[in-house]
Amino acid sequence: MPFSHLTRTVVFACLFATLPGIANADWFEQERAIMGTSITAEVWDNNQQHAQLCIQKVMTEMHRIDSLMSPFHEDTPLAKINREAGQHPVKTPAELFALIKRSFIFSRLSHGAFDISFASAGYLYDYRKKIKPTDDQLKHVIIDYRQIALDDARQTIKFNKPGMRLDLGGIAKGYAVDNSIKILQQCGIKHARVSAGGDSRLLGDRHGRPWIIGIRNPRKAEGTVLALPLSDIAISTSGDYERYFVKDGERYSHILNPRTGKSAKGLWSVTIIGPNATTTDALSTTLFVLGVKKGIQLVDKMKDIDAVMIDNKGIIHYSQGLTPPGQ
Ligand code: ADP
Ligand code: MG
Repeated sequence: MPFSHLTRTVVFACLFATLPGIANADWFEQERAIMGTSITAEVWDNNQQHAQLCIQKVMTEMHRIDSLMSPFHEDTPLAKINREAGQHPVKTPAELFALIKRSFIFSRLSHGAFDISFASAGYLYDYRKKIKPTDDQLKHVIIDYRQIALDDARQTIKFNKPGMRLDLGGIAKGYAVDNSIKILQQCGIKHARVSAGGDSRLLGDRHGRPWIIGIRNPRKAEGTVLALPLSDIAISTSGDYERYFVKDGERYSHILNPRTGKSAKGLWSVTIIGPNATTTDALSTTLFVLGVKKGIQLVDKMKDIDAVMIDNKGIIHYSQGLTPPGQ
């Protein structure tokens, strides 16, 4: 659990608290380690107890999604699919079924660059112990979302080939962030930010001015390469610096090319901006596999989606909808 030391509660005092008319309003923020990542919820509210109640609902939602979709805990419905769907159709909770189905949209859009059955190879990697599969092991692995049979009427999932596995690590955090924003809206919150690792969504603005979201420098522990002023939008970054190890001079990072079962190369990071975090999360992973040319081409065809891609020479590439600094 790399971020466990982050478990803490922070309450930020805010400059705006002194403005007339909103004397008691303030920003309230909490950070927790859930789903193997750092979860942050920040809300603007005029009542501390109410703010904390709303933030608590977000954290409860994160735990709920983890217990539905984590492949790591044995008792989740996703773990059951991985254990049994190679032998027989497995009845699947509607919400999990729907997200798996939604993941296929990105698989089709990218001709298989995004594929939740990457996990058939993914489970052979251990990033902490620096373990990777041999070429021989990879020969027997099947990564192909088209071999995942979804039965809509029965809500069952079956693998057409035995030995397959699924992992929603490239989309579930974004989905959890979207649900959290809905929960905050139902709670009466008008301005908020929810982040799960590299996936964030902004509700409203930062009270009268945009949120400023930085894109990290992929080769420095601290520092950003760009700052984007944003409101009411989702933003996700996938990078090769989050989970990786270096062995014999080569970097093995956690995003796999489904065609090879090996770490995708060519990029340091991909940032996607779009209307919801499920989409930006899935697309950041997708473009990381596709590379600059195909990635920008794909995004330029999509409405309301933009991309900033940093290649392995440190050059920044922008989709059509963005104006690079100084232009
Ligand atoms: P994170 O916030 O975990 O860094 P990313 O959005 O960058 O998430 O996605 C990386 C995760 O996506 C991996 O940890 C893995 O769970 C999953 N993944 C890796 N390769 C693929 C792929 N080709 N298609 C779909 N999901 C993938
Ligand atoms: Mg992603």
